[in-house]
Amino acid sequence: MESLKPVRGTQDILPDESRLFRRVEETAFDVADRYGFGEISTPIFEFTEVFTRTLGDTSDIVTKEMYTFEDKGGDMITLRPEGTAGVARAFIANGMQQNLPLKLFYRGPMFRYERPQKGRRRQFRQVGIEILGVATPQADIEVISLATTFLDELGLKNNITLELNSLGDAESRAAYREKLVSYLSGHKDKLSHDSLERLDRNPLRILDSKDEGDIAIVSNAPRLQDSLNETSQSFFNELCGGLSKLGVDFEHNTKLVRGLDYYCHTAFEFTTTDLGAQGTVLAGGRYDGLIGQMGGPETPGIGWAAGVERLTLLLGEGKEAKRPIVVIPVGGEAESEALVVTEMLRKKGYRVDLDYSGNLKKRMKRANMLNAAAAILLGEDELTKNVGTLRDMDSGEQKEVSLETLEDHLKVYK
Ligand code: ATP
Ligand code: MG
Repeated sequence: MESLKPVRGTQDILPDESRLFRRVEETAFDVADRYGFGEISTPIFEFTEVFTRTLGDTSDIVTKEMYTFEDKGGDMITLRPEGTAGVARAFIANGMQQNLPLKLFYRGPMFRYERPQKGRRRQFRQVGIEILGVATPQADIEVISLATTFLDELGLKNNITLELNSLGDAESRAAYREKLVSYLSGHKDKLSHDSLERLDRNPLRILDSKDEGDIAIVSNAPRLQDSLNETSQSFFNELCGGLSKLGVDFEHNTKLVRGLDYYCHTAFEFTTTDLGAQGTVLAGGRYDGLIGQMGGPETPGIGWAAGVERLTLLLGEGKEAKRPIVVIPVGGEAESEALVVTEMLRKKGYRVDLDYSGNLKKRMKRANMLNAAAAILLGEDELTKNVGTLRDMDSGEQKEVSLETLEDHLKVYK
């Protein structure tokens, strides 16, 4: 039955894979916590306006990718495609400007109507952070350094490059836009269809076009960095200096612009060549105008979001789950005693499994399948002596241990 398949671009995440997802999300949470970020959860859906008014009419997300519907009350609702707009809305709605600067962490599912492929899904998960209320590059340095610590703790540092650029302030971008449009207008006949459409509305996006013809034209275009005014240039210099001081390596990619209209100054992406076309695992930038544009108090902001799926693809098998201890009753009388021992060990923090039925052979087989570190065999004789047989599943060594002191013998498996 076709309808039992998950909707295109969505997936069931089964226990083995879930473990990787958890590792990514818990590492992110743990690092963010150490950097002083508190968690915020905003709703998975918002009024459509929250996104259309912030992401800009020309962004891919707003023009093509939103899951939008009218609910039963007639409101236009959108499943959130990203996290920053919801955080900004929550910031305004909760009067959080009293507490600036704010450092926030979020995690959860996002939804975009895209063409599904490896590392690109219609429902995917992100972890992300935002710093609100800091206009100086200190915040940019902190969020980027947090990102490197996070990737480092996942063991991914060696495969990932940080690309960094400055989009400048509004004045610099306006100056650049003019130069760029005048240059590109001279090549209109060779620009791709998409880029032609962007020429009036969002010409900076043409810089990161993937079309080969566009790439050739763009390679001779005026450079954004040459249009940066003094403020923007010194902001960028301070950021680069700060990162170098912390030992964070980066490449200055002058073509890096981000898909969303609300970015200014800092834009960055952490990319890998190990995932094919979907090589960006974490991306972010500064969005000083966003909250004002939503009708809130002018508040600078900077943040990033990372795609959890893409990071799990890089982790591969990764660290294994904690190996269980398996309790194996031998004979009917031992069943209920086995349950008591199992429960006692679980309450003491061990990961313990007890099969529901079967003879010794079948249960040993299952213990192997579960990759158990040890098995505790409880036979009827043993129970009368109040002992069990502890078997190390790797060496095969067995010894009789008193149930009273059982825990002392298990510590090595914890
Ligand atoms: P891309 O260039 O891959 O479309 P993007 O610029 O749209 O990315 P952002 O909005 O910056 O992506 O989202 C931050 C991160 O979220 C991305 O770097 C990526 O890791 C992840 N991401 C974005 N869209 C998807 C998706 N459809 N499926 C899985 N992960 C995604
Ligand atoms: Mg995208």
